[in-house]
Amino acid sequence: MTPTSPAALAAATDTHCPYCSLQCGMRLSPGPSALRPSAPGPDAVGPNAPGADTVVEVLERPEFPVNRGALCAKGRTAPALLARGARLTGPLLRDRPGAPLRSASWPEALDRVAAGLARTRAEHGADAVGVFGGGGLTNEKAYLLGKFARVVLGTANIDYNGRFCMSSAAAAHRRAFGLDRGLPFPLADVPHTGCLILVGGNPAETMPPAVRYLRELRENGGKLIVVDPRRTRTAELADLHLQPRPGGDLALALGLLHLVIADGLVDRGFIDRRTTGFDAARESAMAHWPDRVERITGVPVHQLRAAARTFGGAATGMVLTARGPEQQSKGTDTVGAWINLCLATGNAGRPYAGYGCLTGQGNGQGGREHGQKADQLPGYRSIEDPAAREHVAAVWGVDPASIPGPGRSAYELLDGLGQPGGVRALLLAGSNPAVSAPNAGHVTERLRALDLLVVADLVLSETARLADVVLPVTQWAEEDGTTTNLEGRVTLRRRALDPPEGVRSELWLLRELAARLGVPEGFPVEAEQAFAELRRASAGGDADYAGISYQRIAAEDGVFWPCPSEEHPGTPRLFLDRFATPDGRARFVQVTHRPAAEEPDAAYPLYLTTGRVLAQYQSGAQTRRVAELNRAAPGPYVELHPRLAERLGVADGEPVAVTSRRGRAVAPARITDAIRPDTVFMPFHWAGAGRANSLTNPALDPVSRMPEFKLCAVRVERAHLEVTT
Ligand code: SF4
Repeated sequence: MTPTSPAALAAATDTHCPYCSLQCGMRLSPGPSALRPSAPGPDAVGPNAPGADTVVEVLERPEFPVNRGALCAKGRTAPALLARGARLTGPLLRDRPGAPLRSASWPEALDRVAAGLARTRAEHGADAVGVFGGGGLTNEKAYLLGKFARVVLGTANIDYNGRFCMSSAAAAHRRAFGLDRGLPFPLADVPHTGCLILVGGNPAETMPPAVRYLRELRENGGKLIVVDPRRTRTAELADLHLQPRPGGDLALALGLLHLVIADGLVDRGFIDRRTTGFDAARESAMAHWPDRVERITGVPVHQLRAAARTFGGAATGMVLTARGPEQQSKGTDTVGAWINLCLATGNAGRPYAGYGCLTGQGNGQGGREHGQKADQLPGYRSIEDPAAREHVAAVWGVDPASIPGPGRSAYELLDGLGQPGGVRALLLAGSNPAVSAPNAGHVTERLRALDLLVVADLVLSETARLADVVLPVTQWAEEDGTTTNLEGRVTLRRRALDPPEGVRSELWLLRELAARLGVPEGFPVEAEQAFAELRRASAGGDADYAGISYQRIAAEDGVFWPCPSEEHPGTPRLFLDRFATPDGRARFVQVTHRPAAEEPDAAYPLYLTTGRVLAQYQSGAQTRRVAELNRAAPGPYVELHPRLAERLGVADGEPVAVTSRRGRAVAPARITDAIRPDTVFMPFHWAGAGRANSLTNPALDPVSRMPEFKLCAVRVERAHLEVTT
């Protein structure tokens, strides 16, 4: 591999943004970029020196249909991390616990990793070795990571950070429709629906190019209802903003279904023809009458009535959920309640109508389809299904009985690190749980307790700083591969330039580790070869990629799965004829309101809710290294209502301490009437004293095993100024 240079980029390359699930199309052009990494500061250590490499210029790619050329600041500045000063350019390792990380050669680093994994497996059994992946990994990487865990390590314990992102929506989708794809329709359908309810999502900050679909919806005469405890930039676009207490989303959906039924707005024909289970769902909804729902949620009855009439009265309607209702200990039931509302009004399985989830991470969709989830095999197959095991085993050339069963979910895996019966050696790729996991202080302690922590990343993230071995890997612009966006559209990432010397792809390092662990075959280094195997492994599964090729993706601006053959056109709209359940009918699920795992009380009297800001992404491991983004969003803060601020005697900008039963965070106050007086908000992109996830509650949804990131009980006090980044 050769160092990054302008000469390596011979012509413009069409590819996609490395960050969120919109997977905006962009064009990379040769030539210098004005974008430089942040000053090296504490994030550039070891062999990295601030560099002056020429990187690439991001150009619009207006013909790509999802973003039509528009990019947010994160996408525009993504090349800043291609420069040497911002990234790792050689392996690092620690000679003994407590010793500093030092530079190492690749053979030395890989030998150390292989020996450590083999030793742990020999001494403590295969399940003492774990793998933790990420929703930003390409499909090829996710696929081979899952294969590596099951075939090379023989461990059941593989899961990924997507469990934290969308698993409740996925579980609810499968329960109701028999299949989970974030959106069962293209985003381009959104402007043509009659009424859209957007629950707990803020695309104006998380994916700004998608906001045009909301504006077009309103220009077409459609109505937009936003449900959010905060008056976000997205809520400001709405015809109606419902501002429930955190955790009120389930009761709210039940209350709207109650009113739709009471007002005679259900679609009885649709219910009879295409669904089962309505009577039980109706019974539950009728127990959530408007006054009761107002008491639970804080949303006035007149607003409930207005929302129910607008949605129920529209010719077509959509509900889109995001992390707000999903990241709860009742997230699966909450999403189920919103799906019930769609089904009762006939808004599913027909054009311009239906339920969908706005997936978060860049490959949050594909990452959950191809085997890095504890309970799944490629093609969205269940790891407990004998036929699925047989199919995948045949592709892998192994005995079906050798494939382990389901392992621990993400938080359970992290919680057990270094504990009796838990994982003792962990290979982690594309994730930064020391910042992004709930109860992050505890998770950091568990990471420290490992016998061996190996982190593959492009930067020295907070988790990588804890590692025994750090393996520097290639980035989006330096590799081929596919991702699957929030619509289920498989898109193609193209290698535009060479990585720096000393950096390798995850596919290469999996091949090298597999060989050292006695499996010399079956781990291709070329992404297209890996994709060819993934296609065979997924064939016949729910997420069937058999007919999708790199050539088709490039020629067709992406291909929607399922696509079972090369002659098949792909499936932009699911469920038009039947749902993916055994009887072809969608299933109402009987759900009822219940409180959060932790409600405010005398000791912790406020709700904390967390979220994202426009200029940072997830744990911030990448975006905190980009100067332009740091100028726009330099650090954490605590949003609080003026009445609360007055009660606490806090002025805007003064530091406040937020304390939960799990930890404490300190950040400047930001006083705004956009938030409820009983709730404070913190963005979760930062480490250190302002780490929001020091506070969050790891209580798990019983179905999806999703932690309750979105709300917990806290108290807020004035604080002395402390370092917050
Ligand atoms: S919206 Fe998402 S995919 Fe598009 S440029 Fe921004 S971060 Fe990248």
